Amino acid sequence: MPINITIYKKCLETIPTVLCVFFSLFLFSCVKTTPIRKVTLGQPQIQISGFSEEQSQVIKKTFLQLKSLAPGRLKIKKETYKRLSRFDSLFGFPFGGEQLNNWVSQKIKTLSYGNTWTVAINQNQETLVIGDQFFTQLTDLERLYLLIHEARHSDGDGFKHIKCPNGFPFVSSGQPEMDLENIFACDAVKDGAYAFQSAFLFELFAYGLFEQREVGLVYNSSVSRIIK
Ligand SMILES: [Zn+2]
Repeated sequence: MPINITIYKKCLETIPTVLCVFFSLFLFSCVKTTPIRKVTLGQPQIQISGFSEEQSQVIKKTFLQLKSLAPGRLKIKKETYKRLSRFDSLFGFPFGGEQLNNWVSQKIKTLSYGNTWTVAINQNQETLVIGDQFFTQLTDLERLYLLIHEARHSDGDGFKHIKCPNGFPFVSSGQPEMDLENIFACDAVKDGAYAFQSAFLFELFAYGLFEQREVGLVYNSSVSRIIK
């Protein structure tokens, strides 16, 4: 029965191909990553790619939160505010969500998905790569100041970090497993990513936006990264 054997063999050869096609279709329908697309998070539009629909929603929510920030009544002494506020001099405009949102959007042209050794990486190419930790381990507050921090890495030569010095006495509350001594997590300049992050956090603290105690502690921690 040679004909039947040939058909049988042909069938065996075909089955894996068919299975493969079905399996691929199944996987494709499960993963559901978004294609590269431009979304209006601020002005100009930002290109986002590789994220799941759920992750895209978190990104949009973060930008909306940023946009909604508005200074109300000061919740600290006016003198303290005047002494410590550095927002205007660093950002070049008064504290407010709308402008901040656009400020970030001008510096981060593309947001793309990728798991790296850290939460997010901006290698001064106007692309911010963010991975699972951004969505699973960060609070809303952490996502916000991370955007500010990473956006500043798009400026100039990237404002690269220096190693925190020997005997550095502060801890990383966000990444407790990391010892900051001799790690590239400090700045030698007063206008680097930690300076912008701190200036942003100070405004949130001063106006009582978010949980003031938490913001105050994170602000102190951020300032500690700027080595005089
Ligand atoms: Zn950085």
